[in-house]
Parts: sequence; structure tokens; C-alpha cells
Amino acid sequence: MRKINKCLVANRGEIAIRVFRACTELNIRTVAIYSKEDSRSYHRYKADEAYLVGEGKKPIEAYLDIEGIIKIAKENEIDAIHPGYGFLSENIQFARRCREEGILFIGPEPEQLEIFGDKVKARKYAEKANIPVVPGKEVQTLEEIRDFARDCGYPIIIKAALGGGGRGMRIVRDESELKDAFERAKSEAKSAFGSGEVYVEKYLEKPKHIEVQILADRHGNIVHLYERDCSVQRRHQKIVEIAPAVKLSPELRRRICDSAVRLMRSTGYTNAGTVEFLVSGNDFYFIEVNPRIQVEHTITELITGIDIVQAQILIAEGYTLKNEKIGIRSQEDVKLNGYAIQCRITTEDPLNGFLPDTGRINAYRTGGGFGVRIDTGNAYQGAVITPYYDSLLLKLSTWGLTFESAVAKMVRNLQEFRIRGIKTNIPFLENVVQHPKFLAGEIDTTFVDTTPELFE
Ligand code: ADP
Repeated sequence: MRKINKCLVANRGEIAIRVFRACTELNIRTVAIYSKEDSRSYHRYKADEAYLVGEGKKPIEAYLDIEGIIKIAKENEIDAIHPGYGFLSENIQFARRCREEGILFIGPEPEQLEIFGDKVKARKYAEKANIPVVPGKEVQTLEEIRDFARDCGYPIIIKAALGGGGRGMRIVRDESELKDAFERAKSEAKSAFGSGEVYVEKYLEKPKHIEVQILADRHGNIVHLYERDCSVQRRHQKIVEIAPAVKLSPELRRRICDSAVRLMRSTGYTNAGTVEFLVSGNDFYFIEVNPRIQVEHTITELITGIDIVQAQILIAEGYTLKNEKIGIRSQEDVKLNGYAIQCRITTEDPLNGFLPDTGRINAYRTGGGFGVRIDTGNAYQGAVITPYYDSLLLKLSTWGLTFESAVAKMVRNLQEFRIRGIKTNIPFLENVVQHPKFLAGEIDTTFVDTTPELFE
């Protein structure tokens, strides 16, 4: 057991604030880092202490300054670092450096990051654990990829082995597109992720994206907190998430959740993580693991009552899941209650190709009421939205006893929001959550890209 006294969050925006809140409730002092561009960012003022990081570096690189962050930690008696999502959250070298310096990294061990940072390795572990994976293959040459496509049939998808965030993927619908797509995928992978290694998978038509939230302590206890449906995606990036999945049969839910636990157990995984699957009819296929907190963890918290970020911290301190502070004595203790939905409200203009907007927020009024949760980084009247970072403005989550009531709350809240001075995707989100297919639970990952009326 090791009590954390002071925790640095190596991140910015809403997730930094989310972690500060968890720390404060656990009586842990909080430390922010901020780039020069973020010197007026809200997360800086939400921490007990704040330090400038990455001087002279570009806005994103500032938050990737491993040695700069370690230095701040060493100079200020920081005993733990939470990496949030994105930035250094899956960086093996960072996790190792924390370990070398005796700083607790609130996440899995570097050994697990190594497995799950590489989609090819992760697939191998899934196969070993007897979990179905999408038919696929590591490929080095055009001939190999052509052979694969001839065997399993088009369409196929080429992915960067080290890819993430919906980037570095290319769908190929017939052989004539193959050469070009392969070359581009490789060079994109190289420039975006530092490795030109790619692999190829059968492209599933109209699957659902279903992912399972896992919590594992350092004493061999592991549970799942059920699933989220993240099929509402634009260009492979999640926009609206639902928990639990609507219309998923109890039998399929059990098989998917059991597979997720089995995989994570087989790798000796600890802390919070998510196992992602594509689901087609009654079949499900592993795609990847996100070994970190995810943007959409909020809705799982709403339906289980479990504070996942607090659990991450307590697990890092050495608590077992069974300890009353976490309170999960067995899988049966994790109870589903109602439905929750999260909308990612961004400063993007849906009528103009989702172009990010920047400037000052002149008016900001939120929704609210029973069953509503708002997680925000820099959303308030007078805030200035800069072009340097991702365009997530806030996460709006609603909870209801039934899916219909969660939707009704979401619609009402989206309508209540007034944000002036900057464009947001709220009108688009209103269209999504009122669409008959969404209401019927009949969405798949192609829903947004094939439903033009959502953009009107
Ligand atoms: P990333 O790590 O970039 O998020 P993922 O492998 O998790 O990439 O895939 C993101 C999304 O891309 C999935 O949710 C799905 O919509 C789509 N996708 C990925 N692989 C396939 C596939 N084999 N068939 C169909 N869609 C896929």
C-alpha cells in the first residue's frame, strides 16, 4: 500500500479537471501542467498547484515533454501521475520513466502498454485467449495483401499497427484501389505513428462498436462494468455513446463481457481499461484494447454508480477491488441501473464540414436537472477557444431509468444549451438523438456517414 499525497495530471481540459475532482474527494493534493498556449486554460486554475511545461515547444508537444513533466514531479514532491487519455497515456517510455523515478503511474504497467499499444500484438493475445478476431493478417508487401484480399474478399481495411484515434485506416473496396491505398497507409502510418508497420483486416459491413469497461486490481481481482455502444461515429471517431447497449441479448452481452475479462486476465492487466469489439448479428470480433481511461467512461459511472477514476487511483495505491472504498467484492456487485447517453459537444461547425471554430464564447448557458452530468474543460462565458488542441468543448451525459427517458433528457438538455460566439455541433447532435434509427437502437458504425439528413 502506498498513499498518494500529491498527484500531477499530465493532461489538459476536461479530463484533467475530472481527475482533479476525484483526487480532491480522496484528499489528494492536485497539480496541473499547462503549455504557454494554455496559460489561461481553466484546468490550470482547478488544481492546487500549476506549472508551465514544455517551454519553447509546440502546443501539443508541450504535453508530450516526458522529461519536463518528470522534472516538475521530482521538484515538487509529486508521488503519482495520472495521464488522462491521449497525449502520454499509452506511452511506454513515459510509464517506464515514472517507474524508474519511483512515481506511481496511474494506469497499467509498461508491459501491458507494450502489448496493447501494438494492434498486431494485441490480436495475438486475443487469439491465444480464444477470442474471435476479425480475419486479418500482418502484411509487408503488396502481394501479401492482394493474396489476403483474394482469400477473404473485398472490402478490406488497412490499419496502422500503432494507430489510434480513428486515424491511419483505409478501406479498400476493390483491387484497383489496392496499390495506392497500401502505399498511402504505410506512409501515413510512418509519419503519424513513427512506424510504417500495417496490417489488414476484412472490412465488416455495418457492424456495431461495442466495448467493455474493465477494472482490475493488483491482487488478481478483475471485473467488467458492462458495455458501451459507441456506434455513432463520424469517420471512425465516436460522437455519441450509450450504456448499456440497447437491444443486446443477455446471452451475447455475457459472451462479450466474459471475453473481455478473459483477455485482460490473460495479460496480467491492472487498473482501468477497455476492450473494443465489432458486433455483427450474433457474432463479435475483438479489435483493440484502450489501456487507459476513455472519454466515454462517464456513462458507465452513471449506470453502475462506480467512480472509475477514483477506482484507478485506489488501485494504484494498492487497494483491492473488494475494499469498501471501491466496493466490488465480486462481479455480482456490479449492478446495471437504467441507461446513460453521452454527447461530445465540440466547437465544430456541422454545416461546414465540421470545421473547428475558434474565438470567444460570448454567452454560455447550460441545461441541467435530475440525471444530467456535464464535464467541461474550457466552457464558460468569456472563454477563448484556441485552434491548438482538439475541439471537445464539453461532454453532456444524461441518465434515465429507460433508454427513452435518457434520450428525452438528452434532447431537452441539448435544446436548453445556449452557446454564442462560437459554432458548436449541438444542432447535429439534436438530429442524431431524435433520429428514428437511433431511437430504435438500430444504429451501426456507418449510420452518421450514410445519413445526410443529420447534417441539415
Ligand atoms: P482506432 O484505434 O483508431 O480507434 P479501431 O481499430 O478502434 O481504431 O477502429 C475504430 C473504428 O473503425 C471502429 O469502431 C469501426 O467503426 C471502424 N473499424 C475498424 N476496424 C474495422 C473493420 N475490420 N471492419 C469495419 N469497421 C472497422
